[in-house]
Amino acid sequence: MENIIYSHQIVIVGGGSGGITTAAQLLRKDKNLDIAIIEPSEKHYYQPGWTLMSGGLMKPEEMVKDKKDVIPKGVNWIKDYAVSFDTDKNLIITASGIGVQYQYLILCPGIQLDLHLIKGLKETLGKNGVTSNYAGLGAYSWELIKNFKGGNAIFTYPATPIKCGGAAQKVMYMADDVFKSKSGVGVNTKVMFCTAGTKLFAVPAYSKALEEIVERRGIEVKYQHNLKEIKPETREAIFDVTTPEGVKEVSIKYDLLHVAPPMSAPDFIKKSPFAQQNGDGGGWIDVDQYTLQHKRYANVFGLGDATSLPTSKTAAAVRAQVPVVVENLLALMKGKPLTARYDGYTCCPIITGYNSAIFAEFDYENIPISSFFIDPTKERYSMFLVKRYLLPWLYWNRMLKGKPLETEMYKKLGLRQWRQKAPSFA
Ligand SMILES: Cc1cc2nc3c(=O)[nH]c(=O)nc-3n(C[C@H](O)[C@H](O)[C@H](O)COP(=O)(O)OP(=O)(O)OC[C@H]3O[C@@H](n4cnc5c(N)ncnc54)[C@H](O)[C@@H]3O)c2cc1C
Repeated sequence: MENIIYSHQIVIVGGGSGGITTAAQLLRKDKNLDIAIIEPSEKHYYQPGWTLMSGGLMKPEEMVKDKKDVIPKGVNWIKDYAVSFDTDKNLIITASGIGVQYQYLILCPGIQLDLHLIKGLKETLGKNGVTSNYAGLGAYSWELIKNFKGGNAIFTYPATPIKCGGAAQKVMYMADDVFKSKSGVGVNTKVMFCTAGTKLFAVPAYSKALEEIVERRGIEVKYQHNLKEIKPETREAIFDVTTPEGVKEVSIKYDLLHVAPPMSAPDFIKKSPFAQQNGDGGGWIDVDQYTLQHKRYANVFGLGDATSLPTSKTAAAVRAQVPVVVENLLALMKGKPLTARYDGYTCCPIITGYNSAIFAEFDYENIPISSFFIDPTKERYSMFLVKRYLLPWLYWNRMLKGKPLETEMYKKLGLRQWRQKAPSFA
């Protein structure tokens, strides 16, 4: 029997984008709530900033704050890892062996990078021309890109779900711009996008727009190429390539390699009672896709990258999920029905060059929608400015502080219809 040291009304596991925003919004609704966050890290990163850094567009100090400065005042921060759960006792056990009891639990521990699934990656990441913005190496990516002397620049995409799938391409488009118009190595350079998938993006209309962009840029796309090994001595990337005849091994020489590694639900979630059961999915937190309540434990909610939600894993999705969790949790606490619904909203602002971006918004229906009343499949300078300047500001100054964001503001102003579905663009 563990010594129970802490007991709180609401416990949040994971103080990242989802955890902090949820705590902040809950406290804005009711400042007397007793909330604890279990979160091990000292620093909080604006993760979309890794992409901006890799294009030389953001300084390191713009994308990090101390965790103590972003955790809302009045929240108890338990600086530890959650490792296991006892659902009969509503208890979480942490890495240092303490027990944390909850009446209500919110799970948002993010996604796990499975670097070990690519042989040689761990050993070579961050040197020898191998980088990954997903591993927080935005500065090294920029070093490699601006000092590139020509050759093969390879950007990969894995066979698993990942966070911000578009980020695997954003860095590539900026790099291609640098090679062609800044460093001038373009003529001696071959840019390749090697993806384990069969298309460039989940939503067909955005995929079509991206196909035109790679075509225009002369980027070679290799589908069904799953990176499985890196040989730094010979600078070879080894892929499993699916062909009609079966899977064969293909080696491609690289001079610069940006890896989007395989990812999965965190291991402690996979082996917890909260994971999808009976081989149903990949061990993600098993929540109802509309209410975000756990399917088997009524006092548990989940949001963000670690969940089973069938939409793209982004901070923008988190932004739309938090108000649903908050509203439904407060309703549950008052014994009322859960009426708030998440529609799968997500957004991936795909930087397509130094002066353009496609603001790819969509929901469970997988057709483009636009918060800006424009055709969202078109590259626009205005959307680049939104990505570079507005979104980081919104993140630090409104989202993490639990303040209303665009969709809630639209709702308040009665302008919900501005966020229009745009099926004609699909
Ligand atoms: C390179 C890159 C580019 C991106 N670009 C965009 C973009 O343009 N737009 C966009 O919307 N999103 C983007 N994202 C994705 C976005 O950052 C994530 O989707 C978002 O942060 C998910 O929020 P979360 O709360 O689920 O997870 P996170 O914000 O990752 O937080 C999870 C937290 O859980 C903590 N944790 C982990 N294990 C435990 C444990 N055992 N116990 C307790 N706590 C634990 C972690 O320390 C972390 O603080 C990008 C991400 C990357 C890496």
